[in-house]
Amino acid sequence: DSCLLSVKDLKVYFPIYKGLMRSVAGYVKAVDGVSLSIQQGKTLALVGESGCGKTTVGKSILQLIPPTAGSVRYNGLELVGLERKRLREMRAQFQLIFQDPYASLNPRMRIVEIIEEGINSLNAGDDREENTAARQSGTASAERLDALLKSVGLPPEAKWRYPHEFSGGQRQRIAIARALAVHPKLIVCDEPTSALDVSVQAQILNLLKQLQDSLGLAYLFITHNISVVEYLADEVAVMYLGRIVEYGSVDEVLNNPRHPYTQALLSAVPVIELESRRHIIHLHGDLPSPANPPPGCHFHPRCPHVMPICRKTYPATSTFSSTHSARCYLYPPEQEQEQGQKQGQK
Ligand code: SF4
Repeated sequence: DSCLLSVKDLKVYFPIYKGLMRSVAGYVKAVDGVSLSIQQGKTLALVGESGCGKTTVGKSILQLIPPTAGSVRYNGLELVGLERKRLREMRAQFQLIFQDPYASLNPRMRIVEIIEEGINSLNAGDDREENTAARQSGTASAERLDALLKSVGLPPEAKWRYPHEFSGGQRQRIAIARALAVHPKLIVCDEPTSALDVSVQAQILNLLKQLQDSLGLAYLFITHNISVVEYLADEVAVMYLGRIVEYGSVDEVLNNPRHPYTQALLSAVPVIELESRRHIIHLHGDLPSPANPPPGCHFHPRCPHVMPICRKTYPATSTFSSTHSARCYLYPPEQEQEQGQKQGQK
């Protein structure tokens, strides 16, 4: 089984406190029953507007935010509730790259220290021997560092400099080098290019793709940028207010979007050659607050196809292929489809 990460029914609820007694008045359901999986060496893009919960999904998968409920299996090992020490060991295998590399790089440290700190902070299983060896032998460590910098397109001299001496794109390269230093298998990339100039964005995306090919990395790529999805992802999950509303291969979702929210997202992308995206669907209103989501289908106040039932209960999953599904009343739910097929067979 090449499934590296398997997330089932992940929930992250934050309590809302009220009054002097700070009693719990309700919950913000930032993530409300998210399931997804990533194969080794593949990229799943998690797409949605800011505030839809996609960053919380990334952090709770890495157990940086403890999930309220659900399962996160990495290589078959359940991470939810895993003992701290064991989790720290596991952390070498999954890394996080943020939107703003400057905020994640200590300004008082030289690049050599930043990367070594990343390596030394781990006393993890597979890496332990190698790290000890690297620490004992200055040359091996220096060689490895130079190789790491080279792999992200930076010269060896870069290691003696401080983060502020680099441009935004170079800083993101440093952050990538630091992440790679511990030999991760999965990298959660949280909008890693959205703070960069367009020309630099392309360079970083190329670098990530190239590293994926050479190192067999899997990415959970959190973004609001559909062009990035098209370029980098194998599968895509579209999130709206804490839930995944559509899931499928990039080809299925981008060329045949089923959920009205996905259709609106795609219609706003300025790509004219695709007939289906010519007609721009304007969404009215902002993303509602996850503290008080609309009843039924959360998208109903903004949906051009809203029906009375949409305001009542959340739609079940409808499947269109073994990989493509959406949650919307415009399509018959899974069970009915199955029944229909059985009746058809009789
Ligand atoms: Fe629109 Fe109803 Fe589908 Fe929700 S369930 S996306 S409101 S048609």
